[in-house]
Amino acid sequence: MRVALYVCRVRDRWNMLLSLDLRVDVTWWLEGASGQQVLSWLLLDEALPLSQASWLIEHFEPERGMDQWNEGHWLAYMRRKVEAYDKLSGEQAARKEVAGLAGKAGMITAERRAGTSGMAAASRGAGVGGMPDAYPAEGWAQLEQGAALLAERFRGRQLLAAEAEALLADTVPQLASWRAAAQLARLHGRLSITAALDLPTRRRPAWLSAQGAPRCRRCGSVARQRVPCAACGQAACAYCEACLALGRSRACALLLRSAAPSAVRGTAALATGGGLARWGLSAAQSAAASAALAYLARPTSTEDGPGRFLLWAVTGAGKTEMIFPLLQHTLERGGRALVATPRRDVVLELAPRLAKAFPDVALATLYGGSTERWKDAQLTLATTHQLMRFYQGFDLVIIDELDAFPYNINSK
Ligand SMILES: [Zn+2]
Ligand SMILES: [Zn+2]
Repeated sequence: MRVALYVCRVRDRWNMLLSLDLRVDVTWWLEGASGQQVLSWLLLDEALPLSQASWLIEHFEPERGMDQWNEGHWLAYMRRKVEAYDKLSGEQAARKEVAGLAGKAGMITAERRAGTSGMAAASRGAGVGGMPDAYPAEGWAQLEQGAALLAERFRGRQLLAAEAEALLADTVPQLASWRAAAQLARLHGRLSITAALDLPTRRRPAWLSAQGAPRCRRCGSVARQRVPCAACGQAACAYCEACLALGRSRACALLLRSAAPSAVRGTAALATGGGLARWGLSAAQSAAASAALAYLARPTSTEDGPGRFLLWAVTGAGKTEMIFPLLQHTLERGGRALVATPRRDVVLELAPRLAKAFPDVALATLYGGSTERWKDAQLTLATTHQLMRFYQGFDLVIIDELDAFPYNINSK
């Protein structure tokens, strides 16, 4: 897919952004919806391949003298960067020449706005050429509502465009244009929008077979496979084989990721024996569960990031019972918890036990073909592959059989 790419200078900062619906960005930056003072704004390309736009943004660094740049400087900048991208990606064949900037309107600056009645007038001023249209004013309030709803539905998730469409069709059928809503959620800082694959910064040494191979942002694996792709027209569009079971994560595919972690990490006091009594654990199970609870309740700072605790026991030792107090600890504090296991039969076996143990908590049971895949739940029980649809979505993650495939090769 193709996206628009532009730069804008807000206060002292240059930003480069891609857009799924440029009308939303025009209203946001040039019609004042952002509430921020935009000093310069320039459309670099109206329809750049997503993988390229995503890479340009990832590697965008403000350069010396950028404040004084005119369109010619930006054109040279684009040529330079696209060349660097081509060398890395090997996509030259399908790329169009950077002939000129798409923004026929040229640079929109604060100076140019002076003397006009605001940015809207400047952006449509005489002799300026065609500026992209703004979003219809009468639809803006509804779009804001849609963006807020979408951000809420995406909380703690990461989804490819096709999955996002499925989720929204199921849960927010009234949303007229999900791309516009997603773009506005992005501008509000509640969503990140990238290509599903991430190209490395430099070429790898020749002795590494995966030379220049991109990495899958969804599952973290190196994406070595390439196929002719109808979606982007590339003769060799890279895709990730590791997470293929959940849909093809391609170089040209859109990955939408929640940008607002839902974590509400508890800093409560140590759990007492009273919390444990309910679960009827043996002395050894109680001791292990108490240690795990003490770990959960430890004071932490946000800089520490999430911690890890290993509960190691032989088969039949009753590990499952031991996780109940931990789930209770997190759920009682309003947190979201996840139990993941590589095996579907374990999910199916555990689901009724969790439902019985926590009757008042919304439980989502996820496996291939599950009907609850978009259910918004406080407690989630899932097979490993389903975890790829989540991103920073949980306060407590319990992973069963940590030594089993695929965790042992994938620490992300
Ligand atoms: Zn992948
Ligand atoms: Zn493609």
